This record gives sequence, C-alpha cells and structure tokens, in this order.
Amino acid sequence: MENRIYIVGMGPGREEMMTREALAALEQSDVIVGYTVYLDLLSGRFKGKELLSTPMRQEEKRCRMCFEEAKKGKKTALVCSGDAGIYGMASLMYEIGKEYPQTELVVIPGITAASSGAALLGAPLNHDFCVISLSDLLTPWERIARRLKAAAEGDFAIVLYNPSSRKRKGYLARACDILLSALEPGRPCGIVENIGREGTKTGICTLQELRDREVNMFTTVFIGNSTTEAIGGKLITKRGYPAEQA
Ligand code: SAH
Repeated sequence: MENRIYIVGMGPGREEMMTREALAALEQSDVIVGYTVYLDLLSGRFKGKELLSTPMRQEEKRCRMCFEEAKKGKKTALVCSGDAGIYGMASLMYEIGKEYPQTELVVIPGITAASSGAALLGAPLNHDFCVISLSDLLTPWERIARRLKAAAEGDFAIVLYNPSSRKRKGYLARACDILLSALEPGRPCGIVENIGREGTKTGICTLQELRDREVNMFTTVFIGNSTTEAIGGKLITKRGYPAEQA
C-alpha cells in the first residue's frame, strides 16, 4: 500500500473522551477532514493541521477528498463523531476505496453515543439492546418501523439515534406510537442531549411522556426493557443477579 487514511471516531466531543489511539492518529496527520462541527471541536488542539470540510449531506465528496489528499502524499485522517463505524463514514470509505486500491484504510474506534449517553443515565444498556436510527434519509420508514416493532417484541432495551431534525419533526412521537402498541406506557425511558459537549442535559420519563418530548439532532434516546427501573434519578436495566431480584 502506498498510502493510508485513518478513519477516526472522536467520541462524543470532549477531548478526554477520545482514545489515545485516535489522538495519536490525528497528531500524525497532515490533513484532517470532517464535518465542520467536529473540526471546530478539534481546531484548538490541531491548529497546525490543514482542516478540510464539506457541508453536511456531501458525504461522498468528503470521502473522495480524503483519497485525493492521501494520493498527494499527505497523511490524512477523516474524523466522525462517536464511532466512525456506527452511522458514520467508515463503510462509504471502504466502498469508494475500491477505486483507490493503493490506499490502506485504518479504522480507529471511538465511544459511541449509546455508550457515553448510557453512562450519564446510569446503566440502561446492561443487558441485550438494539440501536435504531430514526433517520429515513437513507432507510425507508417501513424498515425502521419494522425494526422498532421487533425490538419491542424481543424485549430489548432500545437506543434511538437521530430522533429528530429540523426536517423530521414528529418522528420520535411516531416511533413511540409503534413502541406503545407493544409496551406499557409507564416503561422507563431516558433522554441525553449534548453528551460530552457544552449544555449536557439528561432526563428520565415514561414512554408515554417521551412521546411528547421535544428532542433535537444532538439527542440520544433510551427505552428500557421489561426489567428497567428508575433508581435515584438514574435508569437501570438489571442483569438478573439474585440481589437485584430481591
Ligand atoms: N457516529 C455517531 C453517530 C452519528 S448519528 C456515534 O457513534 O455516536 C447522529 C446521532 O448520534 C445524533 O442524532 C444523536 O442521536 C447521536 N449523537 C451523536 N453525538 C451525540 C452527542 N454528543 N450527544 C447526544 N447525542 C449524540
């Protein structure tokens, strides 16, 4: 391989929440490519680097930019929030990479919102869980609805990514209506906003209340399974240890 691109998951935002491997990859790079919001979070520390971005929704262009920079002989990193392989750019990079066989891709994992958000809420994912994105930009809504239903029927704890955006208002309510057809309205749920960034907020409510909550694109939503309990303001999904059953 003649050159290499690091595909770096930077975690939810704060530098402390980035792995040392991720930081080292960015430090070694000449060029850092990413969506502007993430580059802004990094710009303080990586002032000396060339920071390149494309607007949101121009993901393919952003990927191609990486391959072109690498081809010029520059050490290149592509940053994504959380983990680059979870609703991130890693798979598109591999697809486009077919056209650039001389470039090696190295994925560096990051803390995904399910994990960082769960930590703020306590332990809502301490058993089997499903992660479902409510964005129907790339996935038909019917498939999302089918997955929501299946997750509820399977008694999974559920994490919802992309619960809303300016263009997709009302999606969380639609998702809750599907879940409410299988789950009780009092099912404990949690909401986390701006994890690892300024203005972090957490909240616990019931599934019925969740239905009418305002959320934005920097929110991750948690729905408990049948064992989940709100304990002292935290959302706890039990593993089934004997002490927990007492
Ligand atoms: N690759 C990212 C997910 C990108 S999809 C990851 O692994 O975390 C974008 C969605 O992720 C957002 O709509 C939100 O639901 C969630 N998310 C990402 N970063 C977040 C943060 N800092 N705070 C809260 N939610 C976040």
